[in-house]
Amino acid sequence: MLMPGVPMASLNRALCVAATRPRWSPACSLGLRPLTSGAVPTTEKSVPYQRTLKQAQVAQGPTRPLPSTANVVVIGGGSLGCQTLYHLAKLGVSGAVLLERERLTSGTTWHTAGLLWQLRPSDVEVELLAHTRRVVSRDLEEETGLHTGWIQNGGLFIASSRQRLDEYKRLMSLGKAYGVESHVLSPAETKALYPLMNVDDLYGTLYVPQDGTMDPAGTCTTLARAATARGAQVIENCPVTGIRVRTDDFGVRRVAAVETEHGSIQTPCVVNCAGVWAGAVGRMAGVKVPLVAMHHAYVVTERIEGIQVSDKFAFSLFDLDWDVFTQHIEGAINRVPVLEKTGVKSTVCGPESFTPDHKPLMGEAPELRGFFLGCGFNSAGMMLGGGCGQELAHWIVHGRPEKDMYGYDIRRFHHSLTDHRRWIRERSHESYAKNYSVVFPHDEPLAGRNMRRDPLHEELLARGCVFQERHGWERPGWFNPGGGTAPVLPYDYYGAYGHAAHEDHAYGRLLQDEYTFDFPPHHDVIKKECLACRGAAAVFNMSYFGKFYLVGLDARRAADWLFSADVSRPPGSTVYTCMLNQRGGTESDLTVSRLAPGTQASALAPAFEGDGYYLAVGGAAAQHNWSHISTVLQDHKFRCQLVDSSEDLGMISIQGPASRAILQEVLDADLSNEAFPFSTHKLVRAAGHLVRAMRLSFVGELGWELHIPGPSCVPVYQAVMAAGAKHGLVNAGYRAIDSLSIEKGYRHWHSDLRQDDSPLEAGLAFTCKLKSAIPFLGREALERQRAEGLRRRLVCFTVDEKVPMFGLEAIWRNGQVVGHIRRADFGFAIDKTLAYGYIRDPSGGPVSLDFVKSGDYVLERMGVTYPARAHLKSPFDPDNKRVKGLY
Ligand SMILES: Cc1cc2nc3c(=O)[nH]c(=O)nc-3n(C[C@H](O)[C@H](O)[C@H](O)COP(=O)(O)OP(=O)(O)OC[C@H]3O[C@@H](n4cnc5c(N)ncnc54)[C@H](O)[C@@H]3O)c2cc1C
Repeated sequence: MLMPGVPMASLNRALCVAATRPRWSPACSLGLRPLTSGAVPTTEKSVPYQRTLKQAQVAQGPTRPLPSTANVVVIGGGSLGCQTLYHLAKLGVSGAVLLERERLTSGTTWHTAGLLWQLRPSDVEVELLAHTRRVVSRDLEEETGLHTGWIQNGGLFIASSRQRLDEYKRLMSLGKAYGVESHVLSPAETKALYPLMNVDDLYGTLYVPQDGTMDPAGTCTTLARAATARGAQVIENCPVTGIRVRTDDFGVRRVAAVETEHGSIQTPCVVNCAGVWAGAVGRMAGVKVPLVAMHHAYVVTERIEGIQVSDKFAFSLFDLDWDVFTQHIEGAINRVPVLEKTGVKSTVCGPESFTPDHKPLMGEAPELRGFFLGCGFNSAGMMLGGGCGQELAHWIVHGRPEKDMYGYDIRRFHHSLTDHRRWIRERSHESYAKNYSVVFPHDEPLAGRNMRRDPLHEELLARGCVFQERHGWERPGWFNPGGGTAPVLPYDYYGAYGHAAHEDHAYGRLLQDEYTFDFPPHHDVIKKECLACRGAAAVFNMSYFGKFYLVGLDARRAADWLFSADVSRPPGSTVYTCMLNQRGGTESDLTVSRLAPGTQASALAPAFEGDGYYLAVGGAAAQHNWSHISTVLQDHKFRCQLVDSSEDLGMISIQGPASRAILQEVLDADLSNEAFPFSTHKLVRAAGHLVRAMRLSFVGELGWELHIPGPSCVPVYQAVMAAGAKHGLVNAGYRAIDSLSIEKGYRHWHSDLRQDDSPLEAGLAFTCKLKSAIPFLGREALERQRAEGLRRRLVCFTVDEKVPMFGLEAIWRNGQVVGHIRRADFGFAIDKTLAYGYIRDPSGGPVSLDFVKSGDYVLERMGVTYPARAHLKSPFDPDNKRVKGLY
């Protein structure tokens, strides 16, 4: 599951397999075995449970007659299906039906360990977990009068290393922003709380008193009871055998009906909550579901004096692989010595689904409208079930979830990856292997790398580039001066499954060095890249950007509706804008360049009639942008095409005071302020190659982006480097971009600007055409927000003391917690840590600028507070002189 150590709850009932795995060798110590066709359930099982959910039920047919129509059909009666049905019913959806092929909980849910903790290194997850806890500990009981089986026995998380304890301290600080009580305990305090534990080799523990355990049967039965009381239907013994699809008159595939052996149900909406079988259900609809089913296990011990162990009920399980499991027993015995003399009463080894990034798969499938996913729960489907069920229900009813669910949205993966078997397998393996690892700020995967490489890859590798992986792309992280090359080698499964472990993996070693919550060892290297950009110039390879054309007869109408800014300026203009959802939340920020119509198609300009726009979007969110735009075009039946040229075009950006002098030697265009003003673009020749040059900056400097057809990338890049040599031009990567952009106060989508943040709250009102009369998606919500006053605001903080911050720190104002930091980094030009976070007024009122200015602030990092200064404008070049070329 998600946390290391042995939570107290698991000691009461089970030893989670991965709980005792040492940090350094993920694969060798996993209780993990991919399910193969040869893996069959055992027929006899000694499990600790004595009753089943519906023991008496032997019926072969469905437990109720099938309705002919339903507004929503949920497939699967496990944790996710039941939670989703309950929340749909709560939102007032009539005629929601749950179809379960066997009986409720009979898949993975019945044998869950059921742990629920509240703290995770993600604010969204903390909120999701809190909702599940509310549902099982309060709401369901209030509604039905039934106890769900919730036991609040507290969670104890063990730190066997300093970094682990640092991580716990970070969680404790975040918990304060959410009112989650937690305590970092010394080894002696831990011993006093839990006398059976060996604390000799511990750094400390995190104690969360209100964590607990859920009972799967009690929870699901009560959810089903509450949902049916509100008009939903639960039909067991009814396997879904097919999904009928129709194509509407706009050519869009939509869900039409669900088929079973006992008849079909017409419905516009299906939710795939089929657990490890979700892939099979997806195939019925032509939808890709990137998950891997694996064995996941724990054992239940005999009664230990001082610990109460309760029995449960049973369905079917796999045999436990003792060869694998024994490796964990040693660690468990070291931690709780009494286990050595305690018998194992039974084993619980069942199937569970794991995904490539260890996050669930949710949201509407890009391949089929009306087909939602609610699966891939990576061994946390009980504790996340309530929060995710609620978000899924919102998604279905309101077209989008309430919280920022991008990290769980199926559209976070590029479509080329979601059916790439090697990628899914490798990544799912590694993410499971690192299940309990400390979540470090600069970690990168070693599995499933080199899926998408741009034309400059080899060139940059030879120049010391250390890559990061985003959306399948390899993008430059930073450049290692004199360190030799550090290619990412094929995945070695950490030496497991007969793979030889790499003996010499420079990239892996560099990564390991970064496993710290201090300033990383390469801090000064990134400093040099940043200061070169501020003092001379830096070239950034941003080829992984998504590059789309929106063209056609209705393109202007579509652009007016989609983009918050007015992008319909004359051809040659480039506009930074947001795309919003109906609630005024920010789905994306991007640049939109207006094109002149043309009849000659090329990678730099498609032929089109009507209007045309060139969209450049952050590469990590390219699929999300694509899906958002496509959905809007479909819903409004706009007659225009969205064309993806991401793989055809590379992109480099040259930024800094010397950028004009350098590029003037390479481009055949006049780069003066008059001839090439900020926020404009032109087709020009670079070293003889046709490119689109765009005067823009994401780091707050004079600079240009060059969008270059693939075959021209290397010669253009080389010409730029040659011209830049005498001006001090350096290569720089995304680590430098992160620092430079936060220093300038530019937002990063999905960090300080998310689906649950409006541009008004984020200080981006200038991107919204509210002064015009043009309607746009999200406008009404923004107008409401403006009229009512902003309930929270993004604030920039600087910290004078040289202390690393990475986000999740608590923000204190005048002695009260008012929020937490979303994004933080070190700004090298101002020589301070910068941190951005949304603050609220604890009284619940609007957050005025005076409220922001008048407070005394401290930021709490790992339990220690640091004085901070709040800024309403970026402290670096607040008058934006540098982007105008005024140095
Ligand atoms: C050993 C173990 C320990 C765990 N411990 C924890 C823990 O401590 N805390 C925690 O939060 N999570 C834990 N988990 C994970 C958690 O149990 C799962 O994530 C969760 O139960 C998954 O629920 P689900 O609804 O997605 O899938 P499932 O429970 O598998 O439900 C899917 C349902 O779909 C049905 N179905 C499949 N195909 C069809 C079809 N064609 N038609 C109709 N119905 C269909 C199946 O019969 C099944 O009932 C653990 C898992 C394991 C294996």
